[in-house]
Amino acid sequence: MTLMDVLVAPGSDDTPDAVTVDGQRTSREGLLLAATALAVRLVGAPAAAVPATPTLETVTAVVAGLLAGVPVVPVPPDAGPVERGHVLRDSGAALLLGAAPEGWGDTGLQAVPVDPWARGAAGPAEAALSEPSADATALVLYTSGTTGSPKGVLLTRSAVAADLDALAEAWAWTPRDTLVHGLPLFHVHGLVLGVLGALRVGSRLVHTGRPTPQRYAAAGGSLYFGVPTVWGRVAADPAAAGALRSARLLVSGSAPLPASVFSALEGLTGHRPVERYGMTETLITVSARADGERRPGAVGVPVSGVRTRLVEQDEDGIGELQVQGPTLFSGYLHRPEATAASFTGDGWFRTGDMAVIEPDGTHRIVGRASTDLIKSGGYRIGAGEVENALLDHPAVREVAVVGAPHDDLGQQVVAYVVAEGVTGDELIDFVARSLSVHKRPRVVRFLDELPRNAMGKPQKKLLPPL
Ligand code: ATP
Ligand code: MG
Repeated sequence: MTLMDVLVAPGSDDTPDAVTVDGQRTSREGLLLAATALAVRLVGAPAAAVPATPTLETVTAVVAGLLAGVPVVPVPPDAGPVERGHVLRDSGAALLLGAAPEGWGDTGLQAVPVDPWARGAAGPAEAALSEPSADATALVLYTSGTTGSPKGVLLTRSAVAADLDALAEAWAWTPRDTLVHGLPLFHVHGLVLGVLGALRVGSRLVHTGRPTPQRYAAAGGSLYFGVPTVWGRVAADPAAAGALRSARLLVSGSAPLPASVFSALEGLTGHRPVERYGMTETLITVSARADGERRPGAVGVPVSGVRTRLVEQDEDGIGELQVQGPTLFSGYLHRPEATAASFTGDGWFRTGDMAVIEPDGTHRIVGRASTDLIKSGGYRIGAGEVENALLDHPAVREVAVVGAPHDDLGQQVVAYVVAEGVTGDELIDFVARSLSVHKRPRVVRFLDELPRNAMGKPQKKLLPPL
């Protein structure tokens, strides 16, 4: 089945508002016509950058790139000049699809206007496009840069297709669904799952522009995607959350969903959220299933076709999570050494994340080996466990726990906290009631807010030094 067939596959929702992005509506057929008209102008380009504003122009440009077989490079529209310059140069993009956002200045790329309402002659234009091969690069997505500078991840058409089909199966996602979310369109979550997923499955798509609780509530969807910060805001707005009672499935991903938000959502919406885990390099990998058990702090089981294993497990069963399967990336752009270093000799991808696999196969993500695993006094402490214990305190709104160098212990547990009306000592005592002594923070620092990126992931490397 070709991508063009997928866009208007039998059973797809093709109402006039099948695809809505921040209030702009089109049918799937309309999207296909506009994207085809653009695609014929792109064929042969080495790569095409797309300023990933949450607009129908962006969706049209991405689909056009896929139709033309030109690798698409979504660029965060509000990326600073250094990050933007890095992505534009590193990706080798020759074209810029759509208007450059304000403040971008001259990118040096050839600008190609995008018109979501273009209605070129579909027949002859389609004939000019040949279906790219399954192992052609569909997307170059940059990682979030949580642990270093963002790396360009090459994703083939077949990896994207394998991921979307496995997820559709896990979440029982069908053309009868309406997917609602307001996630950025330059990461796996918002773009691959949140746009290409809806197009491939054939469900209606409502991108809310900004991901506010009010917009989620007003959209009337059956399937909702969000990152934990978005779900935290929904859970703090009982009226909006109540409107999601009529939904079928709420999905959280990209960062750990605090247990407190999980229970608040369950109480207000009647749904236990599905949590899923993945990364730019592996796409989605592991998720709770629509027909399976959903527990706070657990991200479910590998999706169909994906295998996982833990290596170098400690006595608590915590080890590094490694992945094999059809959803894996094909390499980091221009970084053969980084690509080679990210695979084991026997072909498993090292996620760099620490996890536990429970006897029933359910995965729990403990955190990143580099920033979330604290080695203190001979103990290995997962930052997430301490973060969850602190979040149970009613005065605590946000928290990031890290290991800081310590002369005797190697590392000491340090908590950066956004809270009012509580002292550091009170918080340390509070944690001591639920966790063992060695897991207690030794230092608590209060902040006005945590440094976060566009996906709401805490940026631990940007925390102020002690
Ligand atoms: P970089 O690789 O540049 O440091 P990054 O790893 O944050 O940035 P992404 O690929 O966007 O870039 O994020 C993937 C990471 O997000 C995973 O490796 C994992 O640490 C974290 N993550 C994703 N989903 C979850 C989840 N459900 N629970 C806990 N962590 C998650
Ligand atoms: Mg990463």
